[in-house]
Amino acid sequence: MRTFAIDIERIMSEIGASLDVDLKWTSEGIVLDRPGASVSGDIGYRGTVSNVGGAYAATGSITASIEAHCDRCLGVYRQDVKIPITRIFVEMKDGPEGFDRDDVEKLEGHVIDLAPHIREELILNLPIKLLCGEACKGICPQCGADLNKGECTCGNRIDA
Ligand SMILES: [Zn+2]
Ligand SMILES: [Zn+2]
Repeated sequence: MRTFAIDIERIMSEIGASLDVDLKWTSEGIVLDRPGASVSGDIGYRGTVSNVGGAYAATGSITASIEAHCDRCLGVYRQDVKIPITRIFVEMKDGPEGFDRDDVEKLEGHVIDLAPHIREELILNLPIKLLCGEACKGICPQCGADLNKGECTCGNRIDA
């Protein structure tokens, strides 16, 4: 699996230290689990990682371009998204027994991998309906013409 790695070694010895991160990765291998939707081009992450004492807080925003098929007109459209993301990574070398919390991620070694988290946020951010635009008129139920390109000629009239 792809990794979106951030090496935090140089802030590990100092509580309060933080790292500015401005990275870009190709979206190859990031699958959105949503038919018709995919990431196009690079995925960017800009933010900071801070040593908060035994744990590291990664806060920033993801930028990506989503390519999707409109649920209404079936056309392909592209939308740029900017999604805030925050994750807490806890060092596991001598973590508490039975440590199992949902709100933090386990950190082993000195590299944070944001790939699964970025993928998760991209999926959560997808709207229930993928639309090329709020005003998309869809296709004519009768002849299948794209009504965004003007009224069709089959005689079917849709009065919105
Ligand atoms: Zn559409
Ligand atoms: Zn029609």
